Amino acid sequence: MTQITFLGGCQQVGASAVLIEHKGARVLMDYGVAFKGEHRTPLPTSTRNLTAVLSHAHLDHSGSLPLLAGSHTQPVPVYTTALTRALSKLLLKDMLRIGGASLSFERQEVEHLLKNTQALAYGQRHQVSDKVGVTLLDAGHIPGSASILVEIEGNGSGSTRILYTGDLNTRATQLVQGAPSLQEIGELDFVIVESTYALSEHPPRKEVEQTFVETVRATLEERGTVLIPAFAVGRSQEVLSVLHKYRSHGLDYPIYIDGMAKSVTSVMQRYTQSFTGGPQLQRAAKRVTFVRNASDRRRALEDPAIIIAPAGMLKGGSALHYLRAVADDRRSSVLLVGKQLQGTPGAELLDTGSLTLHSRDGSSQRLHVRAKVKSFNFSCHVDRGEVLDFLRNARGNPQILTMHGDTVACNSLAETLRSEYGFTAEAATKGQTLILN
Ligand SMILES: [Zn+2]
Repeated sequence: MTQITFLGGCQQVGASAVLIEHKGARVLMDYGVAFKGEHRTPLPTSTRNLTAVLSHAHLDHSGSLPLLAGSHTQPVPVYTTALTRALSKLLLKDMLRIGGASLSFERQEVEHLLKNTQALAYGQRHQVSDKVGVTLLDAGHIPGSASILVEIEGNGSGSTRILYTGDLNTRATQLVQGAPSLQEIGELDFVIVESTYALSEHPPRKEVEQTFVETVRATLEERGTVLIPAFAVGRSQEVLSVLHKYRSHGLDYPIYIDGMAKSVTSVMQRYTQSFTGGPQLQRAAKRVTFVRNASDRRRALEDPAIIIAPAGMLKGGSALHYLRAVADDRRSSVLLVGKQLQGTPGAELLDTGSLTLHSRDGSSQRLHVRAKVKSFNFSCHVDRGEVLDFLRNARGNPQILTMHGDTVACNSLAETLRSEYGFTAEAATKGQTLILN
């Protein structure tokens, strides 16, 4: 019997996990975490005969994997790209540092997991059992990200081919070239697709870059500081690459990078051959000051400069230090370059021009920001038009399951795929099992 079970990431963004089972072989695709809401971890599953495949390093895909590290005698092997393996090491250790006692796993589990994580190149097939093979394909989301193709050999009736997109992006950005067309993948029986932005359209990337560059330039000319709170993995490096590309457009000022974005950039610099924008990121990083101590932090704020610092939604990190310093300066700008989820300080700042900062001692303080605040859409996920275009090229009339989006997005995408494109499609639900034969 062959079956697909949705363990998490259904009608929500976070805690993604999908299990495929065939005659004793068990392939788990992602095992992530959610930082809010009811479903913070995927459903539990046995580690018996389990092989995990990780699409990319973001914690909503990888953050619960240490729960499945397995025993020393029966470790759970994990397969992913070499870059994702290196980034996961950084992120899972950081999660341990921040989460401490509130986590359900400890350092030993993380180390055990990382020890059993093996690298696969894009296109390199790994045989999980004599009948089940997995192949990683470039997902175009962040450097090292992959979609996962699972191929199951049937008993005389041909094979079953299942594609799990993971987080998907089809447009070229500075860092990555975008996922290839589904036509190149051959006939598919099932596609499990992300739906994060299935309700919206992104503006053209070139326009976003140009408006962003113009805002940065104007701020620097006024002798202000440009603070860019950015997600450490992917977005900080994309912004660095954009600033490098347009450096001759009045952006030739010092650039500082702080927090987790530094170590992530350093890891990506070791793998520049594995993503299209690698060589450009390498050149960009050479011009940047990696903030090491308090005097670097002071220096960053003395003269006109650009500062890239996590966290992207201002929930913590060094971005808050800089934000306090520039809040009163009308010449400075705070440029938000990622989605600001409702309820986060970043969303509050965008909506009201102020935000509440919470201290470790439990006290809170309201910060009114007089610096200019703007937001730019540098998304690295497919939008509605792009995901429909991507799926339209599928061969073999696959059945489509939507996940990794809120309930409305997942259902709306499935409904459009049914009514306008003639696919069999539905929004997956947590705990749902599809029995294939
Ligand atoms: Zn992601």
